Amino acid sequence: MKLFMPVRVFFEPQALEYPLGKEIYKKMENANIPIKITPSHNRVTGIPGDTPQIGYREAKRTLVVGVKKSLKFDPCRPSADYQFTLGTSCPGGCQYCYLATTLGRKPYVRIYVNIDEILDTIRHYIEKNLPAVTSFEAASTSDPVAVEHLTGSLRKTINFFGQQTHGKLRVVTKFANVDNLLDLEHHRRTKFRFSINSRYVISTFEANTASFEERLEAAGKIAQAGYPLGFIIAPLFFYETWQEDYQELLTKLARSLGASTQEEISFELISHRYTARAKKIILERFPQTKLEMEESTRKYKWGKYGYGKYLYPPEKLEQLKSFFFNEINRVFPQAQIEYFI
Ligand code: SF4
Repeated sequence: MKLFMPVRVFFEPQALEYPLGKEIYKKMENANIPIKITPSHNRVTGIPGDTPQIGYREAKRTLVVGVKKSLKFDPCRPSADYQFTLGTSCPGGCQYCYLATTLGRKPYVRIYVNIDEILDTIRHYIEKNLPAVTSFEAASTSDPVAVEHLTGSLRKTINFFGQQTHGKLRVVTKFANVDNLLDLEHHRRTKFRFSINSRYVISTFEANTASFEERLEAAGKIAQAGYPLGFIIAPLFFYETWQEDYQELLTKLARSLGASTQEEISFELISHRYTARAKKIILERFPQTKLEMEESTRKYKWGKYGYGKYLYPPEKLEQLKSFFFNEINRVFPQAQIEYFI
């Protein structure tokens, strides 16, 4: 797929004091991308779009380069001990993306240039937790692979974790431009997971992301480069042909990976869920969406942040769970299923 290039870019003045900020500024200038200054990466004005659809589309074509000021990391269960961020939002256009519904009307693509400060903070967290090994998730608020050709930050982060005997990194992506990550001394301390789904889900709901084939090709390269490898199948949907389609997905995955890598791979399985607020925003942005969000077929579950989510009811969740456990065990007898939620 074509690598992301914004149609406009905003810089925080402070970002231009960092080498990476200067480098990106030059790249944008050379590519003739219109550049503006914004006082804060949190409140960017001047992205066009009066309607929710156009505002969303233009935001996803806008890059904002800033400095991450809050360097306190949140826990990230069940995936890792903590999450940190190299950016916020991503150029992908997944209709169900929960993240995109939590970032206001214009979920523009943000990248942070104070990478050395972020890595220093990670080092402190690792030291505080010694002698235990501390794991970190790098992709809970963005997809760092999607903008890696502009930042090189993931490359730097993987190299950093390669030197940490008590730190582990986890990355997840729906993108495929991994070529500049293949020659790193990662020492198997970075685990790559590719987020995959059935052909129907990818083609219907995941605009501007890598195709299934491109993700598989990238996964093969990552496995060849010796990284631990996993797959997140999410969100899991019920629809007319879900069983055949997910069976096809697993069979193709097994065929493309071959026998050698199958033993080490893992799966994370996440069923579809949504909040009332997310549904409202999704319907404004994608009025014709085929996403099924019908409350009468869901079970409402209160969450710890004072609002709840609509999940599939327990019997449906059980059906999904037993299908995926059976199929994964059949097709990948050596693989590990890390969790199902
Ligand atoms: S790739 Fe991930 S972060 Fe980006 S829109 Fe899709 S679900 Fe959201």
